[in-house]
Parts: sequence; C-alpha cells; structure tokens
Amino acid sequence: MKKHNFYAGPCILAPEVIKNTADAIINFADTGLSVLEVSHRSKEFVAVCEEARKLVAELLELPEDYKVLFLGGGASLQFCMVPFNLLKTKAAYTDTGTWAHNAIKEAKLFGEVEVLGSSKDENYCYIPKDFVIPSDVDYFHYTSNNTIYGTEVRKDYDSPVPVVCDMSSDIFSRVFDPTKYGLIYAGAQKNLAPAGVTLVIVKESLLGNVDREIPTMLDYRTHIKKDTMFNTPPVLPIYSALQTLKYYKAQGGVKALQEHDEIKAKMLYDEIDRNKLFRGTVAEEDRSIMNVCFVMNPDYAELEKEFFDFATTKGIVGIKGHRSVGGFRASLYNMLPKESVQVLIDTMKEFEAKH
Ligand SMILES: *Cc1c(COP(=O)(O)O)cnc(C)c1O
Repeated sequence: MKKHNFYAGPCILAPEVIKNTADAIINFADTGLSVLEVSHRSKEFVAVCEEARKLVAELLELPEDYKVLFLGGGASLQFCMVPFNLLKTKAAYTDTGTWAHNAIKEAKLFGEVEVLGSSKDENYCYIPKDFVIPSDVDYFHYTSNNTIYGTEVRKDYDSPVPVVCDMSSDIFSRVFDPTKYGLIYAGAQKNLAPAGVTLVIVKESLLGNVDREIPTMLDYRTHIKKDTMFNTPPVLPIYSALQTLKYYKAQGGVKALQEHDEIKAKMLYDEIDRNKLFRGTVAEEDRSIMNVCFVMNPDYAELEKEFFDFATTKGIVGIKGHRSVGGFRASLYNMLPKESVQVLIDTMKEFEAKH
C-alpha cells in the first residue's frame, strides 16, 4: 500500500532525493566508489559541498557577507553555539515552545537572558506579540516554527539588534528577507536532508566580538575559514541536501514551495474547521503551515484511537501528536505531496460519515 508520511522529523524526502542518494551510495559521481567511502577532501566531494552552499545562497538570495555552513551536532548544538559566539552580556528571547525553551536554558549559561514573551502558561498555543525588542541586547532569538505545538511566525521581525532564528522546521517554506537576520540555523531533518547535518547561515561581521575563549569546533570562524571542511563534515547528509536543493530549484524555488505549502495547509485546516469530529489546537492567526496540530472535539474524544487506527489502514503514517499536545499532528513539509494531504482529508471525511 502507498504510504503517506506525516512524520515530524526525520520526515519525508522527495523520491528523487532518496533515489539519487541511493545511487551515490553505490557509485558516487562515476568514481566507482560509494559516497560513503571517499575522502571528504576529494575533488568530487568538495564540489558537492560547494554546490550545496551556492544553492542555499541562491535559493535564499543571501547577500555576499552571509556564510553558509554545514555543521554537526543538530539544531540543539546551536542553542549553545549561538550564545558562545554572540552573547556578550544580555540577549532577548521569546519562549514559544520546547525548542525555544531549550535555547533559553543554554543561553543562560553565557549571560543574562531577557524573555520578551512566553505562551508557556497556555501550552504554547499562540505566539506572543505584545513585546518590543530592546536595543541594549546583543541579539534577539526566536523560533520561527514551533514544530511540536504547530504555531509559526510567518513574517520577519524589525529589530534594532541582530536577529537569530531557529528555522529548523520551516526554512525554504517562505520567502524572507535575509538582511533582517544575523544568524539562521536549521537542523536538516525537516525540510532538507536526513538527520546529521545542520545548516547555519551567519553574517560574518557579527563574529569575533565576545571576550571569552571559544573552543575551536564551537567557533563559527573556524568553519568559515575552512569552507565548512575544518573536520570531516557529515558527508552523506550533505550529499542528500544537495539533491533536495536541486529539487527545490527545479520546483521553481522558495516562492513556488511557499505557494504549494500554503495550499496544502489551507486544505487541511479547512477540513479540521469543517469536520464536526475535530478541532485545531492553536490560535488561528498563528497556525503553522508545516505542522498542523488537531484533536478530537470533546464530544468525540473517545474516538481518538479509532481514528488513528482507521488512518493507518489508509496508509497514513506519523500523525500521532507529540505527547505534550496529544491528539494528532500532520507535518506538511515541503516534500510532502498534495495528494497525501488529500488522502488524510478524505479519511477524515469518511470517518465523520461513520459517526
Ligand atoms: C527538531 C527541532 C530542533 C532540534 O533539532 P536537532 O537537530 O534534533 O537538535 C530544534 N528546533 C526546532 C524548531 C526543531 O523543529
């Protein structure tokens, strides 16, 4: 049976990304060797890395002084690497979910953290809006898409200080103005590649301003200086990332991806709002187009497991909600086809008709 993969991460990749990766595991760039067994400094792999960095810059229209890095350690390592490199005395954060919360915890190891707004008391079901970014902080950090709770900030903040953004789960899903950001990071396993690599985009002029010693591997300048090849980078995920970036370009770039994503999300939210069995869990104006969270309406709460099992019979995979929200979460990342969303909607309709 055809599977419809709604996992939140690691998650669906395009069939051609998987096929090209599989091919390179057998024979990489006609070397007669697997991509798993060639030097990361071979001219073939250096070319992969270079092309991937160039395509990120092209797709996101990055200005010259923004450097593209592929690092290890996941987005979670960036929670400490950002303050290590950028926090002199004080930084401002918004607390919009588990990931933002974890980022705040790490930043506190390096200096003062001003939390500008938090929706924790309402289980992160909305994005705090009633705040002003202070001008006496070193940077302002936020999470653009809250993967677990299904809320998203779909605009660029105007800020008097550099903006740092965790775009792990919505990068390449929205056209944004890169000049409004000082540093962007994204774990690859949501919209880019298999797990193991983190995309970092950093404006070089922000670096070198803290007094503390930074361990070599945790200093962005190390990786900039060596074109992201200071040590052995995550070779295979970078290879897959390149395949995704080429696929994105062929789709028409970020603008086209955004249109596709917005259509998919609207289709599903419309059905959640229409269907008597279900309801969304977050404030309407903050709904994520990447992670759609919904629960059974209270009158039908006992049907939760039955719906989950019914969806499974239709080939639907990965819609169990995160334990901190419950219910269901359908992740509609860039590479999920519209047809899969339609199958989920048809399944919800059919289930409603049965009850
Ligand atoms: C998944 C996720 C993370 C954690 O990523 P790792 O690569 O597992 O460390 C951080 N932030 C957001 C927004 C995420 O969705």
